[in-house]
Amino acid sequence: MPEKLFGGTETLKGVGEAKAEKYLKLGIKSVYDLLCHFPKNYLDFHNNVSIEDSEVNEYNCLKLKIKSKSAPQAVRNRLVVCKAVATDGTDDITVVMFNNVYAFQYLKTGYEYYMYGKVTENLFGKEITSPVYIHSGEKNFIQPIYKLTQGLTVNVLRNDMKQAIALMKSEPFETLPESIMKKYNLCPLMWSLENIHFPESKVSADMARRRLAFDELLKLQLGMMIMKNRSRTHTGFKMDSSVKISDFVKSLPFELTGDQKKASLEIIKDLCRDVPMNRLLQGDVGSGKTAVAGIACCFAARNGVQSALMAPTEILAVQHYRTLSSFFEPFGIKVCLLTGSLKSREKNELREKIASGEYDVIVGTHAIIQKDVEYKSLGLVITDEQHRFGVAQRTALAEKGNTPHKLVMSATPIPRTLALIIYGDLDISVIAQLPKGRKPIKTYAITGKMRHRAFNFVRQRLAEGRQAYVVCPMIEESESELFAVKSYAENAVKSDLAGYRTELLHGKMKPAEKDSVMNDFRDGKIDVLICTTVVEVGVDVPNASVIVIENAERFGLSQIHQLRGRVGRGQFESTCILITDNTSEECLHRMKIMSSKTDGFEISEEDLKMRGPGDFFGNAQHGLPPMKIADLSCSNEIMNMARECAGEILGDDPMLEKECYHSLKMDVIRLFDKDITG
Ligand code: ADP
Ligand code: MG
Repeated sequence: MPEKLFGGTETLKGVGEAKAEKYLKLGIKSVYDLLCHFPKNYLDFHNNVSIEDSEVNEYNCLKLKIKSKSAPQAVRNRLVVCKAVATDGTDDITVVMFNNVYAFQYLKTGYEYYMYGKVTENLFGKEITSPVYIHSGEKNFIQPIYKLTQGLTVNVLRNDMKQAIALMKSEPFETLPESIMKKYNLCPLMWSLENIHFPESKVSADMARRRLAFDELLKLQLGMMIMKNRSRTHTGFKMDSSVKISDFVKSLPFELTGDQKKASLEIIKDLCRDVPMNRLLQGDVGSGKTAVAGIACCFAARNGVQSALMAPTEILAVQHYRTLSSFFEPFGIKVCLLTGSLKSREKNELREKIASGEYDVIVGTHAIIQKDVEYKSLGLVITDEQHRFGVAQRTALAEKGNTPHKLVMSATPIPRTLALIIYGDLDISVIAQLPKGRKPIKTYAITGKMRHRAFNFVRQRLAEGRQAYVVCPMIEESESELFAVKSYAENAVKSDLAGYRTELLHGKMKPAEKDSVMNDFRDGKIDVLICTTVVEVGVDVPNASVIVIENAERFGLSQIHQLRGRVGRGQFESTCILITDNTSEECLHRMKIMSSKTDGFEISEEDLKMRGPGDFFGNAQHGLPPMKIADLSCSNEIMNMARECAGEILGDDPMLEKECYHSLKMDVIRLFDKDITG
């Protein structure tokens, strides 16, 4: 391994303690990390316009000759303004720089530069402020744009980067065997690292990016697959397949759908093997995953094994607790609820009973994975709505037991290509069909002008005894026109919803307050719940049949689909009303998709098509290790290549023990920040 490359950034000339600190802020510890600090984008100085044609209040690239420079002026404390007059023959423009005497010094009267910056106009003509510039004789027309931090300028970073590249060249290495590079048509690592930072052309930057994005997805995929293989060890909880649960299944208040049955059987089959189950149960909102979880817990309990069900929020934990208690009551299976808001005495009492095995099923929030909770025989671990938990949390709960079986439930329909990558460590069961008799939710997209009519409709439903949700994007009103729950609720109470019982629900409320509002809504004591997206996940109130979503343009397709799933959970015909005044083509297209499609998987495919997988990888909620480049640029093509390649490599060498995979293995370990092969 090249030692200097993986040492601290202080190895570089000109990087001292202070600058190293700044790099740390960007997550850069080693020189190699610096090389992996990829540009967000590039400036292409080829695309320049004349001063005359430059767009005011926009960023423009101009080719300018400096006519005259004035001396830097100290204006207020510590603010220094530098000004120069420049021209391109069509007009004059003032170049303005703040606190950047150094960059200003380099501008020489009579010389020509390409400058990129925001152009504004005042009484005295046009100005370009704090431009990035290159000398017109510069060969490199493509300049990278980086994420920076206070006190770290792009020039400083580029200077250090140059040194890092030189260091890398003195200790060259490659993570991929020649054969793989050939097969997938990938550029060498060293070349790619140099060209992502100092590309000769847009094409070489793209080629570099392709290789580096491939690398990152490959590492992710390798890590996930190794974890999957690794968990195929022995479980102490091989269950007995002759244990019957048909009486329990018959007692459920509904007949299982075909998919629910199939998933239950797959799970029970897994539970009866001596390798631990590691399964994802994927099903659209309202598809009835809880019943399947209940069946698994019942089977475990009758095998004398404890189960834990972890929900991402207290509201959901309470809901699961209620559902499961009612299912299990007649069968003497004991359920408890363990959440963070319990008093310490109650908690201690519960903990004792969990440790002594008095409870069969333990439902709760992340409180159930805390160190102080001990289980007697935890053999089945279920996490609900997994996308809210990180891979690490998933593992933490599993580590509580003696390699217990694991079931992960997710209501986020994810396109298959993505699912295979992010759930690469799991087997997958899918509930694709909804329970019988569900009426499809009718969805309408309207503008604010129709709001009153929409609320007429809502009131009709309320008069019939139903309940409604109104979702707003934010809690407090801000300078923008977004509807914020608080002020919205105040207005609504006075106008459209006057006389109805309304209540607020948002993420800033204390858990106890949220619970009490949720309970009141469930018990029908509230007609309309005015809320933020806290209701997004899993909340189940079958009597609610209308949901109004304000500022619908603010939500992603999949998110709207999740929100919409709060209604249509009972026998009532349900409606979703999307309100937006955004008339952009993109928004109209999205509204059209939402009003015409009801299948979560189809919608997620559309989401993927419109936003690209980068959007997904850029979102921290998936709980994967942070992606540096795949979140900016990755295509289905690269994803599929990486998957295929990972399969080939592990087929050849399941734990990456061969010498030719050594650097790759170190990279995987770095990505996951732990030795997943151990
Ligand atoms: P999700 O998969 O979103 O977690 P839930 O488990 O909360 O869905 O189930 C949604 C609703 O559907 C619940 O009210 C539940 O009682 C009901 N349900 C579940 N399975 C069936 C079924 N087979 N037939 C009818 N209703 C069902
Ligand atoms: Mg659920």
